[in-house]
Amino acid sequence: MTDLDALPLRPELRGRTPYGAPQLKVTHRLNTNENPYPLPAELLADLGTALAEASRELNRYPDRDAVGLRADLATYLTRTSGERIEAGQVWAANGSNEVLQQLLQTFGGSGRTALGFTPSYSMHPIISAGTGTAWVDGHRRADFTIDAAAAVAQVREVRPDVVFVTSPNNPTGTAVALETIAELYDATDGVLIVDEAYAEFAREGTPSALTLLPGRPRLVVSRTMSKAFGMAGLRLGYLAADAAVVDALQLVRLPYHLSSLTQAAARTALAHTPALLATVEAVKVERDRIVAALPAMGLTSVPSDANFVLFGRFADAAAAWQALLDRDVLVRDVGLPGWLRVTAGTPVETDAFLTALGEVAPEFRASLGD
Ligand SMILES: *Cc1c(COP(=O)(O)O)cnc(C)c1O
Repeated sequence: MTDLDALPLRPELRGRTPYGAPQLKVTHRLNTNENPYPLPAELLADLGTALAEASRELNRYPDRDAVGLRADLATYLTRTSGERIEAGQVWAANGSNEVLQQLLQTFGGSGRTALGFTPSYSMHPIISAGTGTAWVDGHRRADFTIDAAAAVAQVREVRPDVVFVTSPNNPTGTAVALETIAELYDATDGVLIVDEAYAEFAREGTPSALTLLPGRPRLVVSRTMSKAFGMAGLRLGYLAADAAVVDALQLVRLPYHLSSLTQAAARTALAHTPALLATVEAVKVERDRIVAALPAMGLTSVPSDANFVLFGRFADAAAAWQALLDRDVLVRDVGLPGWLRVTAGTPVETDAFLTALGEVAPEFRASLGD
């Protein structure tokens, strides 16, 4: 094979590495924040019927505007946020990653800049690079929270065209206060994207940025069916924003990007929302169990509003990661010195993780004062 450098690659892609959470054959896969619970039997039965029905029309292109699906998503958002969201304010694509890519194609691009508060979702800078958008790392405090005043000052100075706020943040887990999001909106002339991939897991009393949408035409809230809905394999992400943002995205979206099968499956899944989201509470219980078990092992965690926990600290996180893998437990090394991230799943998975961690912690944890 030819060396990549021998190809006429775009300069901004040279030397970069692709997104790559390992997909290993391990008994306990706790590294990509999936929901481990199987889909409800009634949903599986309905999916069979709906997909067979949709298949009959596979000779035709799908509904380019996904009108029915967007209406169903708007209903879901309205019910859960208390904020009235119209179908025209919603847009859907193949995973929220595609939604984010379309946003950057529309509002970023060559000569433009995106800013996000790192550590955060690793795909934000990767999609920025892919769309030719320059990237600036926003600052966080040592405890990974965002200092609103410092963030506002940095946004005023950098003047980015796109600002990312991940709330709850991945990989650290903590939700961002709505006041901070509102202040950041006022500080930028660009588009503010609040990535709410984990919103359904937030602790009691954590409102969604959907409630900030009225009167803020440059605010975008992105969501996904990959996490709480337990449908990562479906590839369905979506956003809510001013209807003008949805109109603007039509300039870059590929025609017929969302297949008829995806639209049919997503609508069927949404008809089973209560059954699908029933596992969210169970996952939150496991998350809180993990958090509670750490201090006895001489470890700590970052407050989590998501279905995962950032835990540490380790003298050598990569070595601790390997030691857990040797015990058939795959967690995520997110590249933060001293920290690892584990997905909360079933009680059996929590047991396996905590047992393995109990064996690993004494050797690998950081000593006090490190
Ligand atoms: C998992 C995740 C997504 C989801 O991406 P999909 O393409 O919808 O699967 C988006 N944002 C963040 C912060 C995530 O962690």
